[in-house]
Amino acid sequence: MALSDLQEKISILSGAAKFDASCATSGSDGYKGAGGKKFGTSLPSGVCHSWTEDGRCVSLLKVLFSNVCKYDCAYCVNRSSAEIKRSAFTVKELVELTSEFYRRNYIEGLFLSSGIFADPDIVMEKLIETAKTLRTEAGYGGYIHLKIIPGTGEKMIREAGLWADRLSANIELPTEKSLLCLAPQKSGKTILGAMNDFHGLKSEFEESRRTPKFLSQGKSASPFFAPAGQSTQLIVGATEEDDRQIINLSSSLYRKFLLRRVYYSAFIHPGSYVQKESRTDPRLPEGIGPPLVREHRLYQADWLLRFYHFSAGEILSEEQPFLDAHIDPKTAWALKNLDFFPIEVNRADYETLLRIPGIGAKTARRIIESRRSRTLSLDNLRRMGAILKRARYFLTAGGAYIEKPDDPARIRRLLSDTDGAGLQLPLFDF
Ligand code: SF4
Repeated sequence: MALSDLQEKISILSGAAKFDASCATSGSDGYKGAGGKKFGTSLPSGVCHSWTEDGRCVSLLKVLFSNVCKYDCAYCVNRSSAEIKRSAFTVKELVELTSEFYRRNYIEGLFLSSGIFADPDIVMEKLIETAKTLRTEAGYGGYIHLKIIPGTGEKMIREAGLWADRLSANIELPTEKSLLCLAPQKSGKTILGAMNDFHGLKSEFEESRRTPKFLSQGKSASPFFAPAGQSTQLIVGATEEDDRQIINLSSSLYRKFLLRRVYYSAFIHPGSYVQKESRTDPRLPEGIGPPLVREHRLYQADWLLRFYHFSAGEILSEEQPFLDAHIDPKTAWALKNLDFFPIEVNRADYETLLRIPGIGAKTARRIIESRRSRTLSLDNLRRMGAILKRARYFLTAGGAYIEKPDDPARIRRLLSDTDGAGLQLPLFDF
């Protein structure tokens, strides 16, 4: 194939993949610095970043096998009714491309999804064949993330997990009703079924590695199954669900299927990228999409679920179904539960320390470690990484408050970290 043809394929099929957020840094416009200057934009398609089983950040070639799709999901640039250029790789092309990029150190892995151009099992077979050929014939040892094509069977998921590090089935929308409205060919039951199949297979493989037969035969006797687990993507703001429904759903997915990550993707109107007339689809909200601050707050709430041991019910309630756009969810919780504070840092256990705004997991661990040999002062906390601007109202060190939280409304104003346009608070350690 002529180089220019291949370049065009890469351009079409990486552009078509960039809206899938389930391996992070996708579809984002990047940070706009002072004066509108940009750095680190992830908008150009092709390479994205993800995290491996051991926490390393890797750059991935992110492409679709094909952007031909029989389905007509209203929120998707690749839907069957969209007037876009269509293309598809062959397995050979993708294997060569990935191996070549990998050898040249352009990428450390592959993220491969596809439009549903045929029966789901046939599409899945192509993704599996690509991964298997990379592993068995091209000697490729890099990271592989494969999409589970909606409707594919357990047999295919079993095979895919033998060659990929991670698999993901996108749940896309929070309720069956919304799926029926915007993606009528998909079904929540089928997507959750795929997650359940993955979970069952993962347990089965792990169990088999613990059997006496395996232990006596050595490591190669039982293969690993998708060691980096499974993830999913939820589109936010395309339908009417509130943050409470979204966080409740994520919490239940983490519990039931031990998902590694739920990725939240602020809805971007497909008409913003493809064709103006598609904006007239009455099923879609007007405008480009919800503010990115909503996506950011959902990630922070998700972090509270996964690492700070909050329950979904503590973060949002029937009376308050949306996350506060102006204040992070941990500070919002603390201000609503002032009777839980102050926390004495020289006595509190790890779980309790994590409840203090401005103290993240790393600082909490440092506190536990260093107070074994001394009594901690406020100055010690600052040096350990506590953000005292936030923590000052919620802790004591040796009995000393920095400032009593007498006026919650004033504290809320002072700790407000966004005017709705810019975000100053780190995403995770807060
Ligand atoms: S199945 Fe739906 S979301 Fe996936 S590529 Fe096709 S139209 Fe897009």
